[in-house]
Amino acid sequence: MAVRENLQYFLNEIPRGVTLVAVSKTKPVSDIMEAYQCGQRIFGENKVQELISKQPQLPEDIEWHLIGHLQTNKVKYIAPFVSLIESVDSLKLLKEINKQGAKINRTINCLLQFHIANESTKFGLDFQEAAGLLSSAEFTSMNYITICGVMGMATFTEDEEVVRGEFARLKTIFENLKNEFFQGVDSFKEISMGMSGDFRIAIEEGSTMVRIGSSIFGDRIY
Ligand SMILES: *Cc1c(COP(=O)(O)O)cnc(C)c1O
Repeated sequence: MAVRENLQYFLNEIPRGVTLVAVSKTKPVSDIMEAYQCGQRIFGENKVQELISKQPQLPEDIEWHLIGHLQTNKVKYIAPFVSLIESVDSLKLLKEINKQGAKINRTINCLLQFHIANESTKFGLDFQEAAGLLSSAEFTSMNYITICGVMGMATFTEDEEVVRGEFARLKTIFENLKNEFFQGVDSFKEISMGMSGDFRIAIEEGSTMVRIGSSIFGDRIY
């Protein structure tokens, strides 16, 4: 198990100011613990069931990010502890997160996920949908939500220019949202983009948060 070496590699490789989310989906708590012992504190999971089974077995100061599609009926299970929900893709979901936050008096950090890839399978908003959501009266009255930025996944392709173009588009979306809806709002600052295969390009295009799984923990076996 080379988790320590892999983590060290990434910590050397990514610039200061870029947050490393160690994506531990499908991996055992022992692997997460190994990364934790190297100082890693931020972990990403894409399934609620898996997240809520691992979280109680691991140290309390881990910051858990939910990075996969979230169904409204599952928000209540993660609301008490989740550090960042990276995959908000509808007003309906945001309403439920706000409702669950209100119940326990906890403000929940969220990223808006954008559909930037040319693959139809990937979830996410487009700019118009996000603008509609952010200007709605319903959103404006939500007191238990902090929108911390945007997230996106590029097309899975060898073509670097396609990937680069998609990341550049997410950066532009971020800037436009910042100008229109979050001027002077310091908490709106994250651009979560870049995975094992494309994190270098993502960083060149302005990523502030990379989500790295297989390059830290090894290939996933499903
Ligand atoms: C699995 C996953 C990652 C990490 O992917 P790797 O290629 O293993 O680094 C990043 N983001 C999301 C949303 C994921 O589901």
